[in-house]
Formats: sequence, structure tokens, C-alpha cells
Amino acid sequence: MKRQNGKRFLAAILALVLILGTAFAAPTVRAAGKKLVAITFDDGPGPYTDRLLDGLKRRGAKATFFMLGSRAESYPEVVKRVYREGHQVANHSYGHPDLTTLSDAGVQSQIQTTNGILNRACGKGTSYLVRAPYGSESSRVRSLVGAPLIRWSVDPLDWKYRNAATVKANILADTYDGAIVLVHDIHSTSVDGALAAIDTLKSRGYEFVTVRELFRRRGKTLQNGVDYSSCTPTGTDLGPVTAPKITNESENGKLKIVITAQAGAQIYYSTDGSALNQESKRYTGPFLADTPCTVRAVAAYNMNGSRSEETSVTITKPTAKAPRIQVENGMLTLESETPGARIYYTLNGAPAGLDSPVYEGPVELSPGTVISACAGGGDLLRSGEVRAVYSHQGNFFRDIFPGQWYYADADRAVSAGYLYGVGDGRFAPEKPVTRGQLVTFLYRYSGEQATEEELMALPFGDTKPTEYYGEAVAWAYARGIVSGYSSAEFRPEKSVSREEMSVIFAGFLTYRGVSMPDSAGAAQKYLDAGKISPWALKAVEQMTAQGLLSGDTNGKFLPAAGSTRGQAASLLMRLADFLAE
Ligand code: ZN
Repeated sequence: MKRQNGKRFLAAILALVLILGTAFAAPTVRAAGKKLVAITFDDGPGPYTDRLLDGLKRRGAKATFFMLGSRAESYPEVVKRVYREGHQVANHSYGHPDLTTLSDAGVQSQIQTTNGILNRACGKGTSYLVRAPYGSESSRVRSLVGAPLIRWSVDPLDWKYRNAATVKANILADTYDGAIVLVHDIHSTSVDGALAAIDTLKSRGYEFVTVRELFRRRGKTLQNGVDYSSCTPTGTDLGPVTAPKITNESENGKLKIVITAQAGAQIYYSTDGSALNQESKRYTGPFLADTPCTVRAVAAYNMNGSRSEETSVTITKPTAKAPRIQVENGMLTLESETPGARIYYTLNGAPAGLDSPVYEGPVELSPGTVISACAGGGDLLRSGEVRAVYSHQGNFFRDIFPGQWYYADADRAVSAGYLYGVGDGRFAPEKPVTRGQLVTFLYRYSGEQATEEELMALPFGDTKPTEYYGEAVAWAYARGIVSGYSSAEFRPEKSVSREEMSVIFAGFLTYRGVSMPDSAGAAQKYLDAGKISPWALKAVEQMTAQGLLSGDTNGKFLPAAGSTRGQAASLLMRLADFLAE
């Protein structure tokens, strides 16, 4: 018996140990999670909400604000602040009616109108929990609001007592782990009482979280059309959302931003310093940015009430200045103003990058080479790319390249000395050509020389013989190639229209004795033939018939449009080829 008793005794002790073990183990699991409470403020925002927000901030407490649409309309900046400071913005209807007394459309209007007002602060697409006014719900109301409904489990009757000490005492008396506390921030005494209660509860180990966080941390998913009044411990605490980490690195000389957050959280970010909300960019992977830039980011399971603190980083990294390309006598030199920058270049038309050859000294070029260069290396971000061309004719250009329709003609015209560049390797192909310039190009091409008598005979008061175009206009006038606007005006600085250009070039062909076959009607193929001035029609027809001028891609001649240097170079070289045949 004794033995048997002894066995029983041992079994009893064993059972006791197991029970005690379980009993001791349970609080250990609970201790892994903090005591959580969700305090909620209804019927605001109002004149005391800012003071409440100041107090919550000092205490590191988060809360949920069930706002009335009508009040949110009056306090838009307060709504924004509630959202910005990481509290949860929620919907308490527009005008606080008993929703069960309204029609379906009436219920939806109360909810949707308020959502729209709250969206102004939180961004489109934000989801809002709903609390029915007076807690008055029905299954019809629950299905109509299309959101989880939140009631409460602690009601200090703050609206009734209007006494801070009573409000505090009532909250302390009833609050437990997982409670949802109801207070109204439209009463000054409620704000004071709630803040005092938060101090005491914090000293008792409570953490104040939003309603959404209370449920998320305990592994519970809120469902639309279902109501909830508390969330007691489940043995799970997923912990608060950790702020994201922002790092940057240099990738091929470009600034690359990398943002990381805990698993399952979405990252919302901005790179222009703008505030974050539901409409902010979502991070999908590393991206390139220019410097200096400020990257702001939060990690969120829901931007409204379930998000991390914000991380903000301002990045200023030195960027190398673009190198300067020079070509003289076929020798390429590259220079960078940025100390320590390496220069990378290509000579085959491909864009230069950090994997291109490094410039180490002057390079001999062969004609027809496109040069591309950039600077960077070390801690420097890469400069922009610069390009230039050492042309087939041995000219150096920064602004025209093979492949552009006027490139070859411009290159030839410059080599022949008919047109000059505008300095520093620029051809300025889009720059308008003046009447004085066009006649000068033609004069240079002619290879002729105005005589002293011709220069003296120049009748135009606005065309001085000493100007660069003086000789050219005198030469052209004496040969009947140009006439003025009047006996006194040539308007050398006026940009030359396409029909004026036709007249001048046709005049030159006539002067050179080119026999022009009858070309009447040749301009009729242009859709805008009727807009050609009578004095220019014959010249346009002759130039068209000889194939020296044509319309644009829409079939128009555009007689009044100006001519660019690119067009003038092209026409001059066509004329030269025509006369050389
Ligand atoms: Zn209310």
C-alpha cells in the first residue's frame, strides 16, 4: 500500500509540476506581449483636440479619433495633424444621426460623405473604421457601412460627469488589457481626465495603440460588417511596426536609394520632401535619385493607424561636373573642373559610362568620330554625358551630329567657308537666318567680289557698307539678285522667309544664266499654294521645278515661315551641287 501510495504521491507531484509548469508558462507567453489599450475620441475634432494631441505626443501614446464629417470640415488642419502624428482617423458619420433610423441611401451618404472629407487629409483610397453614433447598429447598418464597426468596452461617461478627476477614476476602474476606451475630445474635462488616466495606466505597463494596431498585434483581422468592442490577449503580440531603414549607394555613378522594412509591411515614400499619405509612392525596389534629395519613408500595414514612425534622410553627395570636350588639329582633349574626377569616354557613338575607357591624355582622332564623355569615379556621382563630333570634313561641332538631315550639308558648308559656326563648336542649326546673312552665304559661295563702285551705289539707308553683309548686299543688288523693300530699305536684320529665300536663290540662278524651263503651276502641289505672295510665285515655282525646294511632310510650302541655319546650309549645298552638274 505504502509503495502504491508512494507511486500515487509521485504521480500527484508529477501532475502538480506539470500544472504549475503550465501555469508558470502561460504568463511567460503573455509577458512577451505588452498590455495594450486603445483609447478612442469621438465627436471631434474640436477646440481641445490640439491640446489633446500635444499631450498624446508627450506621452508617446497613439489614439483613434472617430470624427464627425461636419466637424472635420471645420478643422481640416487638425485632421491632418491627427493623421500626420500617426493616430488613426476614423468615421463617426457626418452629422451624428441614429443610423438605424435612416434609409439605405441615408446611411451610405453619412459614411461616404465623411470618408470624402477625411480623404482630404489622408489621401484617396484610405480605409476608415466606423463607429455608429450612440453605438446604434443593426445588421442592415453593418452591411451598408462596408467597414468594420468599432464599439467600446470601457465607458467613463465623460460627457455626463464633465469632471476630469471622475473621468480619470472611471477609466482606471474599468480598463483592462485589450480594452477599447470611449472618450469625447469635445469636452475639456474629458481631455484632461483621459491624459491623466494615460499617465497612470502607462505606469502600470499599458501601451496605448490605435484600434487597428490593437487587433493587428494580436493577430486578428478586422472584417467589414462585423462589430468589435475589445481585443483581449491572444498569446500573440506581433510588436509595433518598425521604422524603415533608408540607405544609399552609388551604382554606376548614380545615386541608388534602398529602403528596407519588416516583412509584410508596405513602404510608402517621397523623394521631394513631401508629406506621406495613402497616395504616396509605394516602394517596389531600389531606385535612382538626383542629389541633393530628402527621402521620407514609413512602413505600413495600413497607412491609417497601422504604420511605423517616419524615417527621413537628406542625401547630399558630390556630383562630378561634366567634362569639357575640345578638338584642335584633330587632337582630342578632355578636362574636368572637379578635383579627383576621372573622365570616361567613347569614340564610337555609344554613351560614355563608368565602364568606358578612362581618359589619360590627348587622343588623335580620325574625321567622322562622335565623342561621348562623362566624369565621375571614387565618391563622386557621375556627371551628365556630353557629346561632340569631329566631322567628316574635319570640323568640330558640339550641337550637330551624324544622322541629322542637315548634318552633312552644314559640315560641307562650314568647310567651304560659306557659313561659319557661331563659336565654341556651335553650329546653331535652329537659329533663324536673316536676310543679310543669307545674301552673305550666297556671296561667299559665288566666289565673286563686289567692286568699290558697287559698294558706293548701295541705295539702302539701313544697309551700311561697313557691316559684314555690306559687300554681299551691294554685290547682289548690282546683279539684280535682290531688291529692297523700298528704295531706302533692305531690312538686313529681318529673318528671311522661305518665299524670300526662293526669290533670292532664283535670282542667283538667273544671274548665273541657268535656263529655267517653264515651270508655271509647279507650286500648285502645295496645299497652301494660295498663300504664296504674287511677287514670289514665279521664283517658288522655278525652285520647285528644279527640285531645289520642296514642301514639308504635310505637303505645305509655308511661304511666310522663317528659315534656319540648318535649312540655309542644306539649300546652299543643293544649289552648289545643281550648278556643279
Ligand atoms: Zn458620438
